[in-house]
Amino acid sequence: VKRVYTFGNGQAEGRADMKNLLGGKGANLAEMNLIGVPVPPGFTITSDVCTEYNTLGKDAVVALLKSDVETAIKNIELLTETSFGDKKNPLLVSVRSGARASMPGMMDTVLNLGLNDESVVGIALKSGNERFAWDSYRRFVQMYGDVVLGMKPESKEEIDPFERIMEEVKEQKGVDLDTDLDVDDLKELVVQFKAAVKEQTGQDFPESAWEQLWGAVMAVFDSWNNERAILYRRMEGIPHEWGTAVNVQAMVFGNMGDNSATGVAFTRDAATGENIFNGEYLINAQGEDVVAGIRTPQQITKEGSLRWAELQGVTEEDRAEMYPSLEEAMPEVFKELNATQQKLERHYKDMQDLEFTVQDGKLWLLQTRNGKRTGAAMVKIAMDLYREKIIDDKLALMRIEAHKLDELLHPVFDMDAIGTANELAKGLPASPGAASGQIIFFADEAKKYPETILVRIETSPEDLEGMLVAKGILTARGGMTSHAAVVARGMGKCCVSGAGALKIDYKERVLRIEGKMYREGDWISLNGSTGKVYEGRVKTRQPELDGDFASIMDFATKYTRMTVRTNADTPKDAKIARGFGAQGIGLCRTEHMFFEGERIKTVREMILSSDEQGRRAALDKLLPYQRGDFEGILEAMQGYGVTIRLLDPPLHEFVPHTELAQQEMAKEMGISLADVKNKVADLSEFNPMLGHRGCRLGNTYPEITEMQARAIIEAALNLKAKGVITRPEIMVPLIGTVEEFKMQADIIHQTAQLLFTERGDKVEYLVGTMIEIPRAALTADKIAEFAEFFSFGTNDLTQMAFGYSRDDANKFLPIYIEKGILKTDPFQILDQEGVGQLVRMGTERGRSSKADLKVGICGEHGGEPSSVEFCDSVGMDYVSCSPFRVPIARVAAAQANI
Ligand code: ADP
Ligand code: MG
Ligand code: MG
Repeated sequence: VKRVYTFGNGQAEGRADMKNLLGGKGANLAEMNLIGVPVPPGFTITSDVCTEYNTLGKDAVVALLKSDVETAIKNIELLTETSFGDKKNPLLVSVRSGARASMPGMMDTVLNLGLNDESVVGIALKSGNERFAWDSYRRFVQMYGDVVLGMKPESKEEIDPFERIMEEVKEQKGVDLDTDLDVDDLKELVVQFKAAVKEQTGQDFPESAWEQLWGAVMAVFDSWNNERAILYRRMEGIPHEWGTAVNVQAMVFGNMGDNSATGVAFTRDAATGENIFNGEYLINAQGEDVVAGIRTPQQITKEGSLRWAELQGVTEEDRAEMYPSLEEAMPEVFKELNATQQKLERHYKDMQDLEFTVQDGKLWLLQTRNGKRTGAAMVKIAMDLYREKIIDDKLALMRIEAHKLDELLHPVFDMDAIGTANELAKGLPASPGAASGQIIFFADEAKKYPETILVRIETSPEDLEGMLVAKGILTARGGMTSHAAVVARGMGKCCVSGAGALKIDYKERVLRIEGKMYREGDWISLNGSTGKVYEGRVKTRQPELDGDFASIMDFATKYTRMTVRTNADTPKDAKIARGFGAQGIGLCRTEHMFFEGERIKTVREMILSSDEQGRRAALDKLLPYQRGDFEGILEAMQGYGVTIRLLDPPLHEFVPHTELAQQEMAKEMGISLADVKNKVADLSEFNPMLGHRGCRLGNTYPEITEMQARAIIEAALNLKAKGVITRPEIMVPLIGTVEEFKMQADIIHQTAQLLFTERGDKVEYLVGTMIEIPRAALTADKIAEFAEFFSFGTNDLTQMAFGYSRDDANKFLPIYIEKGILKTDPFQILDQEGVGQLVRMGTERGRSSKADLKVGICGEHGGEPSSVEFCDSVGMDYVSCSPFRVPIARVAAAQANI
């Protein structure tokens, strides 16, 4: 097996499409080489080796890699005319993580590797820049100590030992910035850093370049399994088995002086999607300096710089003097960078997120990847690239991460409310959206209130989990490419960054803004689209969807095979879903109508009656309500199929449980309180979900089915009389045997026939069933002889296949997922391996006896992209989901068919 892939000087053994093996970073470093973008030479150790490392351990893996890595290092030496481990002319490298899917900042990287007490002198002489040499060295000792030697503290409360030393030295010198430290300070830092290493680990800092290299490679493999990487994978659904590749690459130096710089850039605006090249850089800096928010980063374009200054309230004089754009400070480099970004975007046909370094006036690219973006930017970029003829409609559709469409449907601030709200501060519009919540200062307290805003000086990867929980994120420091900004955009979470007026006191847990004080728990609101921060809770409203969204939906219609229906119980929901393009209703739960207004009393009367006569009397009163509801829903669906499920929940859910309500009930029905109590006690069951519910109700109390069937057919007849075409589909829930279904179907057909004769008119209707009990899936061929359609109720089917009570599973499911017993929550993401077999088998067996059997799904899974894809693969006719998930399902359904 080939374990090492080299790249450099316009050649590469890897390619962009080898991400699985080389990781995203490695594959793209190779590709950039091949298309003539300047990239420092290096090599990639495959992610398969990470797997080998996890099973075989360090020594075995070093033995496997040794000769390949030595050859690859030789190659870099030749291209850079340096020598690894040499005193006078040493090759320095970075050792970088990089997995198949991008996991920004989650794993480790070591820079300037190869330095030691001797080679630092060599570098100083060679570059003629002593400060640079020692700055690189102290960075190396720090990074290597943290990452490889385990000096980085486990808990967030402890500060990094190197940071502490650095703060002390800066304080002694009376300086604020790293760049203000001189050569002697840096030398002193290195001495103290090494002493700290010796003290804490009991070992000397390794001087041998090869020892350093193997240590770093193994540490990068180890970082695949660090806590934040595991958490991130869980959040993003990235499999733990993948492992990370390791990239070893010749260093280029952005910290060589004022003609050097480092930066990050986006080919388009990741927040709005606008086609504006943007990014940030720092002069005389290295690696993560820009993202870490140590110094105020500067903008890449002049236009961006002007906008930034306006938002930050920086005068033009100060801006031009202290924070000039790259375009102004290094016009030649800017020109080349701009040409390169265009080239990369054209090549990858998608918005790119770039890392670059300028060493003594020469530009080098260090990374490119498809940039993370908000839902709104995702749609705009896909459509812009389509209009620019860089991609076609299919590819535009494939560029949509369906679940992210959700963000576009989230509320925005009401303009009137914003007009009168009290503006507290202004930061950068880092990630759009509207958010209100109570202030918290620590990520691990994000659940302290139901809705929180995480307020931090800056965020770090450790804050990830809290950021996910909070409604919005506000930081005092950091730019548009700061950790908070990038992560928030990826999550589609509202974020305002770099609001300089904020004075945060973590100890006291207060936020001061121009003399005013806000405590933990106080409400604030963020507008991530303008960067403004408001006092209190500002009112929101539903957003309007633009033409680009509509175009994506049109593409979805063009390429989909399945249709998308909605789960709706009211005409209002049905109309919303129609607006999102739902073609029919896949599940209308009749019992939801039972709770509205006075109806529940009639329902209770029916349930509490002691005989059929009493029940029929109550059902007669319910009939007009149900008929009215069905008319509304059938009309709203404009002739599309409407699947109406007969009464499903256990009756106990409808009876009065409080003493007061029971008294009232007794009075109304003219029976004693004791009688009511007895009846209620009678209805309670040990396992209501497996009890007297679903078709078991209709089969024991046929008059209920009769009434519901009558209400549906009468509604259809009434609408027909008004000229409205309808397609009711009556669905029997929870059947396990064909007899259960036949009995119900007979009642429905008889009722319909009776009405047709009575009215002298007819309507089309179907009678089908839910498949939600495993036995029904297993005997689907028998059932399909009588049923005209199937709808997989995957909520109950999952519950019964796993034997997990849906209502109790929260006690163990989160723990199961944390421990890796389950990869995902099967109630959210269809378990294709197990439950999926029942779905596939049920569909196939059903169609074996009725070839044109209509099949759909109506569980929660109908709006979850991976489950929708599965439904397409088993040949379903439609999926059905809640109204706001309809756009997601439409895109997922179309993608499944491309
Ligand atoms: P991450 O995946 O966390 O972004 P990277 O491996 O990309 O980690 O590296 C961290 C930082 O170090 C980035 O800013 C990157 O540009 C910089 N860097 C990595 N390798 C080199 C190199 N060979 N020369 C200069 N800078 C480098
Ligand atoms: Mg990077
Ligand atoms: Mg069910």
